[in-house]
Amino acid sequence: MKTRTIEKILPPPPVHFVGDGFRVHNFIPGVHPLSMQRMDPFLMLDYNSKYYFSPTDRPRGVGVHPHRGFETVSIAYSGRIAHHDSFGNSGVIGEGDVQWMTASSGLLHKEYHEKEFARNGGDFHMVQLWVNLPSRFKMIPPKYQPITNDQMGRYILPHDGGIIEVISGDYERVKGPASTFSPVSLINAKLNQGGKASFGFPSVNNTALLVIEGEIQVNVTDNVPADHFVLFRNDGEQFEITAKEKSVVLIMSGEPLREPIAAHGPFVMNTRAEIQQAFEDVSSGKFGHLDD
Ligand code: MN
Repeated sequence: MKTRTIEKILPPPPVHFVGDGFRVHNFIPGVHPLSMQRMDPFLMLDYNSKYYFSPTDRPRGVGVHPHRGFETVSIAYSGRIAHHDSFGNSGVIGEGDVQWMTASSGLLHKEYHEKEFARNGGDFHMVQLWVNLPSRFKMIPPKYQPITNDQMGRYILPHDGGIIEVISGDYERVKGPASTFSPVSLINAKLNQGGKASFGFPSVNNTALLVIEGEIQVNVTDNVPADHFVLFRNDGEQFEITAKEKSVVLIMSGEPLREPIAAHGPFVMNTRAEIQQAFEDVSSGKFGHLDD
């Protein structure tokens, strides 16, 4: 296998708020060169770096909004999020958990800090990633995969290096629980100081990592501190990370869909006409109803 080299190391861009509950750095598609085309099938990555929210009786979050044509993957590192949608589904994810929502044909939902977490206040640290759907799956009925931490695939690294948690895809034949509509690997590497792990993905896959905590070295050459994002070139399969201190790293790799992208706010389809149809379907009630 050939080494996959670094294309760019990106510091966290300035924060903005999504609603009043998500204080995020938008890496994809906000930062050059992380466009939806370059990162295909990853459409969007909002990163709420660790931030303390003070106690409140009125949970912060983002109100009712639609989605169509892709999947939203919420990964919680600390804090708790509650979710409700227009088809009566709801759930809570906390530290180490993932909510994988296939919005596909469309729904309305709202995302808030969970009540008790909001009341106590605390550190909030999470990622929301949007994964595109192949056109033939864009209009299937919505579905959910609530994945608790104990369901993750686990690979124990040798020499007390730490643990690899597989959300989707596989690592050393350990499979992640999430099912996907195209090849997508999402992996958390939780490394002890000095811990080492190498990753191999087909060179065609668009591949990146985000340092959630700590500091790592990539391919024994580049230091990457917390909250920084690494985009890899498509020039090889394998890269290696070493933890300079106790670290958590999110690794993402996906096979590009190579389909036209028509994106407007919460809708990602293949043509402008399909975006227009999404607006019409929201106003005619096809996404259901949900109270704020
Ligand atoms: Mn949403």
